Formats: sequence, structure tokens, C-alpha cells
Amino acid sequence: EINISNLKKIYGDQVVLNNLELDIKGVHSLVIIGPSGGGKSTLLRILAGLEIPEEGNITINNRPLSFKEADLCNYRKTIGMVFQAFNLFPHLSAMNNITLPLEKVHKIKKDEANLRARTLLDRFQLGEHGHKYPSQLSGGQQQRVAIARAVALDSQFLLLDEPTSALDPALTSEVLDSILELKKEKKDLILVTHEMGFARNVADYILFIDQGKVLEAGEAGPLFSNPQTPELKEFLGKTL
Ligand code: ATP
Ligand code: MG
Repeated sequence: EINISNLKKIYGDQVVLNNLELDIKGVHSLVIIGPSGGGKSTLLRILAGLEIPEEGNITINNRPLSFKEADLCNYRKTIGMVFQAFNLFPHLSAMNNITLPLEKVHKIKKDEANLRARTLLDRFQLGEHGHKYPSQLSGGQQQRVAIARAVALDSQFLLLDEPTSALDPALTSEVLDSILELKKEKKDLILVTHEMGFARNVADYILFIDQGKVLEAGEAGPLFSNPQTPELKEFLGKTL
């Protein structure tokens, strides 16, 4: 459940999110689509507590998001986030990419962190690759390590920003399968993707964002088959 009112984000003299409004209930997987530069990543970064808006209020599952630094610091620890690229610490093995945040940030004991990491690596078909450094892994494997790390804390709320955009099609489907798994586990997902087929599959609800505003929102079926705005028609025309 997310409520956003009057959200505004400005970079320099550019209004990136322009009085964005959203009010949804009973949605476990929210997918954000829209043209490049429209503000999708900015919205995700605000929802992740990584960016502070100029104006606006956000409530997630009835809890107002406080933008005080100390509150944000705690809040960030409760969510998992996967970015488009540059997800992993390059100087750490896949295994240690997962265990280090568990030990350092969350003060989990080494044995327990190792056990969790092993279990997750196995679950994402990375059991043989734990010792490798990111540069020794394929793009799809790297993103699966990033997803494993994001879920290692067992946070209920996961934000994923174009987790497959750096991947070729074969690797994309591996990563998308992993995300579908998370949906089956009833995690709350917010996902930005350009994979429209996947968006349709995974989304309980879709937001179409263009120039910092939500232009259309709703269930995938009607939204894709019957777009209302010229902007969404054009966008779908380009991507389908
Ligand atoms: P894409 O699909 O290409 O990832 P997006 O919808 O995620 O696009 P954002 O990354 O949210 O778009 O960017 C929205 C706008 O804000 C862009 O015009 C971008 O140039 C600008 N912007 C984003 N981050 C910054 C920043 N740190 N400083 C200045 N401008 C920024
Ligand atoms: Mg983006």
C-alpha cells in the first residue's frame, strides 16, 4: 500500500517529478514504465530513501516516510534495492558481496551470514560461483548475486531499477525468473522495466510515468490493450 501526494523533485532548474500523485492498495507488485528521462529512477531512489524530494508526502504501508537523515538511515536498512548496473563491490567475491553487508551493516554473525549466503547462492543457481569476483561472472550471474544480496536481509520490500537492461535476452530470462520467484514468495516489489511482456506478467498494477507525472495507471491487461493517452499509445507503439 503506497500513498504519494504532491511529490516534487527538482535538479537545478529541471522539474523531474512534477506534483506526482499515487494512491494504491492491495498491490504487491508495482511496475513502472515510461520513456527515458521521465523520472522513473528518481521516483525509485526517493522510495528507497536515497534521494530527498523538494516537496511531497509518502506513506508506505501506513508508515509515513520521514526524510530526516537519521530516519532515512534506518529506513534504508529495511529495504532491498537492485540497480541497473554496477551493483556489486568489484573487489569482493560473490559470496562476500552478500555476507559483508549482513555482517557490517546488520551485525549478523559470520557463520550465520555465510549460511544465508550459501543458501541464496544455491537458490539462484550460483552455488558453483560463490568464490568468483564480479568481473569473472556473466552479467546475468552478477544481477542474480545482486538480487540474492537484496533479499538476504529478508526485507519485505524490494526495489528493482531495470535489473535486466544491461543483459542480453538469454540472461534476461534467468533474471526475470528469479524476480517471478520473489513475487511467488509474496514480497512487495516495485520494479522499473522496459520488458513489456514481463511487466504484463509480473505486475499487479502498472504506472506509466512521463515527464515527471503519472499519466496512466491500472491493471496490466486494460492498460496495454486500451491506452488512453497519446503518450502511452506512442510509448507502446515503440516498445511492443
Ligand atoms: P531511463 O529510462 O533512461 O532510466 P528515467 O525515467 O529513469 O530514465 P531519471 O533517471 O529519473 O529518468 O531522470 C529524470 C530526469 O532527471 C532526467 O532528465 C535526468 O537527466 C535528470 N536527473 C536525474 N538524476 C539527476 C541528477 N543527479 N542531477 C541532475 N539531473 C538528474
Ligand atoms: Mg532510469
